[in-house]
Amino acid sequence: MKIYVEDSFWDSFLFFEGIRKFFRFSVEFNPYKFKDPYFLAYIRVRNPNKREFYEPFPVEVENEKRGLIKGVIYDGVELLRYFSRDVDISEPTVLITNRLIATFGEDGRYHLRMIVIGPAAIISLKGILYAPAKPLQYYMMHSFGFDEKIDVKVDKVLKMLLLQFYAYFKHEEIFCESEECMLHNCHTTEEIKKVKGLCERHRKMFGDSVNLRGLS
Ligand SMILES: [Zn+2]
Repeated sequence: MKIYVEDSFWDSFLFFEGIRKFFRFSVEFNPYKFKDPYFLAYIRVRNPNKREFYEPFPVEVENEKRGLIKGVIYDGVELLRYFSRDVDISEPTVLITNRLIATFGEDGRYHLRMIVIGPAAIISLKGILYAPAKPLQYYMMHSFGFDEKIDVKVDKVLKMLLLQFYAYFKHEEIFCESEECMLHNCHTTEEIKKVKGLCERHRKMFGDSVNLRGLS
């Protein structure tokens, strides 16, 4: 598996070892940089209830160049489309970002996401902290209020999400009904706590790919 980490926090990324130990196949890490600040400014979520993109203001493009993106939320589908074109995706390839990502749901609203899956995947570390907690509307109203203390084991969720993408990439298998299984689609911090390992069926499929003792 190839894992790219956005270069803005490559130096402070804490999970290289944990992820390497968790997977029994080889994992290659590389830093990644989005090269198009205009595009990043263009795909910002402007309105929680509408999926539409505007010509960005020059100052927004400038802020992208300088990494001043506190409180900014990106359209996860567009971000993934860009990333998937930019790298080789013939093997499972994931970008781990610190940006907040959201996707537009059938209910006509954007929702913050921990992960967006397609031919490749993007995982948002901030999304792991914030997506299971509250609706996007909340964050847009309190647009800079991301400082509540939230009790989530980031390393555990990261391993779950990476395995979910791997399962999708290899077997088009995605979510599991079992609440204790790592492939369960967790929406709340309580659900994340219930995950213990793999259910019987998924142990047969992925038992050889992961080291479950590495799941904290
Ligand atoms: Zn399962």
